[in-house]
Amino acid sequence: MIYQSHKNSTIKASFGDALLASLAPDGGLWMPEDIPFFSPVETALMGAKSFADCSAELAGHFTDENFTPDVLKALCRDAYDFDVPMVTMKGDTLDPALAPDAEDFILELFHGPTLAFKDFAARFMGRAASHLMGATSQKRTILVATSGDTGGAIGDAFLDQAGIKVFILFPKGGVSKVQEQQLTTMGRARSNVKAICVDGTFDDCQQLVKQAFGDKKLTEDYSLMSANSINVGRVIPQSFYYFWTSLQAKAAYPNRPIVYSIPSGNLGNLTGGLIARKMGAPIDRFVVGNNANDPFVDYLSTGVYTPRPSVPTLSNAMDIGRPNNFPRILSLFEDVYADVLEVCWGASFTDVETERHIRRVQHETGYIMCPHTAVGHLAMEKFAEDIASSFTKITVGTAHPAKFADSVERILHTEIPMPGVLAKAMKKKKRMHVMAPTLDDLTDYLAINA
Ligand SMILES: *Cc1c(COP(=O)(O)O)cnc(C)c1O
Repeated sequence: MIYQSHKNSTIKASFGDALLASLAPDGGLWMPEDIPFFSPVETALMGAKSFADCSAELAGHFTDENFTPDVLKALCRDAYDFDVPMVTMKGDTLDPALAPDAEDFILELFHGPTLAFKDFAARFMGRAASHLMGATSQKRTILVATSGDTGGAIGDAFLDQAGIKVFILFPKGGVSKVQEQQLTTMGRARSNVKAICVDGTFDDCQQLVKQAFGDKKLTEDYSLMSANSINVGRVIPQSFYYFWTSLQAKAAYPNRPIVYSIPSGNLGNLTGGLIARKMGAPIDRFVVGNNANDPFVDYLSTGVYTPRPSVPTLSNAMDIGRPNNFPRILSLFEDVYADVLEVCWGASFTDVETERHIRRVQHETGYIMCPHTAVGHLAMEKFAEDIASSFTKITVGTAHPAKFADSVERILHTEIPMPGVLAKAMKKKKRMHVMAPTLDDLTDYLAINA
């Protein structure tokens, strides 16, 4: 696959160069030049494979000659060694024989090592980057801004990898207690993964990373690489699970249209879904759930996009006022607003509504959702109000509720059991550097630590 800048289609790069350079030289986001399309006969064959093998086949269309089918198969089997279950809140799995009428599913994308969907992209990207660098003995410095989950997933994916240093920038007080613990306890004292607590918001962190990439000297001195969803290597793997799970849902309930609801912030997850749909995945529509930070939902209802400063909410991983994948979405629809509306529908919800929903679902079914997943499920419910016929509803479960134990336990008045990996992190000593949100401070810090 050849990639091109979303701003100027004559600026091109190979997959490897687009991955390692993060942004196009004109500051644009890399986009695949043309997205492959698979016929229903082809997709049926791909859906019959395991998730890892289907991903490897898709990845073959998006990478370059450095990635042979065997390399990709090994890479995906190693990266995706965990489950991708779709369940109802009552505990049914996707099985028409056992649950013929089940239609309201949660796609639990939080069974990877850091318990959020970011693992899918981070683990692919980490392995792809090391494979590319392995041949050249290059060194790279990864700067990543996180609203909570990206930092953990990227840190985990790159931990102890030779030639790579990772600096995770997170907003002070802007991530959950468990997330902060996870971010600041990776590896040993001299680990290649370091956490920086920025005295500001997530947007400040993201801005700082952008500024660093805009600084030619910094970029060259440290061979900076972004692991945020501006990097196309993060976005492409997020199409794999939409592609594969929609085929599972279609096989189980062939006569029903399929709608996904995605709790969204930076819109990277939605971008992955839209790419899967373009590849021929049987997806009717996407519902987008926003919290109070809802420039995208506003855009859907008015046609006008107005980025704005973010405000803190219960679903902190979506506290984003300037979603950095918005240009990619426009580019997928060739800037035609009416076409966006045909595929995307959105609604936003307050923290009060989200808390109430978490309580109601737990009361009625026993299922415990993280606040982000709850926003997605609320949006799906609201969308379904106007649809008379039955359809397969798939709400993307973006994180395990234990990652947000501080708020979920307060809302439900019950203790959430900590999965083993988190329980381990909770016992470790936190290590972080606290810093003002300025490029000077970041430059000074890198001079000593990178
Ligand atoms: C990152 C994240 C989101 C938002 O995903 P985007 O791709 O930024 O839209 C939603 N929920 C959780 C738990 C996340 O970590």
